[in-house]
Amino acid sequence: DILSNKIAAGEVVERPASVVKELVENSLDAGSTSIEVAIERGGLAGIRVSDNGHGMGADDAMLSLERYATSKLLTDADLFSIRTLGFRGEALPSMASVSRFELVSREQDAPSGVRIVVEGGRILDVTETGAAPGTVISVKNLFFNVPARRKFLKTENTEMGHIADILLSVSLGFPDVQFRLLHNGRVLRHLAGGDAFVRAVDVLGKEVENHLFPVEHRGAGIRVSGWVASPDISRSTTQRIYLYVNGRHVRDRSVYKALFEGYKGRMMTGRYPVAILFLDVDPDRVDVNVHPTKHEVRFADGRAVWAAVRDGVALALTGEDN
Ligand code: ADP
Ligand code: MG
Repeated sequence: DILSNKIAAGEVVERPASVVKELVENSLDAGSTSIEVAIERGGLAGIRVSDNGHGMGADDAMLSLERYATSKLLTDADLFSIRTLGFRGEALPSMASVSRFELVSREQDAPSGVRIVVEGGRILDVTETGAAPGTVISVKNLFFNVPARRKFLKTENTEMGHIADILLSVSLGFPDVQFRLLHNGRVLRHLAGGDAFVRAVDVLGKEVENHLFPVEHRGAGIRVSGWVASPDISRSTTQRIYLYVNGRHVRDRSVYKALFEGYKGRMMTGRYPVAILFLDVDPDRVDVNVHPTKHEVRFADGRAVWAAVRDGVALALTGEDN
């Protein structure tokens, strides 16, 4: 019902950037190769995500707005074998309950698409429509019916900064996919799909290009890859550490510590490395359902992960000595 969706929205949808993250993850789960994120006024006025993924038929589109109807957590076993970015089935119903929401979707080989208009959780209109294959979701006037939440939103520029950060973070895990970010009709970023190193430099900045050492290491069934930057371009925050577990952008203190350990003796105290690390772990050995925002994970073999990361990083940095 509308009330429980509104409550869930508080957990999943904190601010415009969380809407962008959930929508882009859905587009990626739908196999899209091109995703456009168009923002109006820092997302306070509008957020529109368009993709060329597999789309939804009318029935599936209706179902996608019902909480947990699309949950992939059917059995306990599923908890440990999730391969999609989404799995809880609550993002769309949540955001639709706290905004003016519109979904247009067409399956790749369908003759026409469907358009659903929702306002504050109430479905106002469902129509057949012409549309390009794929999905376009538009979220306007976020929190228009939750004034207490709206008050917590920051300035347009601050919210836009969060949106760009989240989009860039997610995009690192999917270098084959093309992304465009627009603000008030102007193109802010265009990330061409293709090479993982090009994407890394797009995200970290041209100035780090010649300071990156490739990581490639396997240990105890865990693959660690990515790039670590030489210590001389370290930072005073952990903000430039990008960590991915099976393509999912996450934060994990113990992995960060293993990363620092790999830098041991090279890094000034109070400084943090610039790094992009991809961990490929058997999906059965990692729990991603720790928190609704899915930013945290839990490993079945934390120590093995720790050792693999530390060794992979240390090995990559010995390249620096030569
Ligand atoms: P979850 O991602 O956890 O399954 P969501 O509420 O984010 O839940 O999305 C609900 C469902 O709607 C998805 O499982 C998917 O089937 C469908 N869906 C959402 N966005 C898209 C999209 N861009 N393209 C195709 N299907 C989508
Ligand atoms: Mg989702």
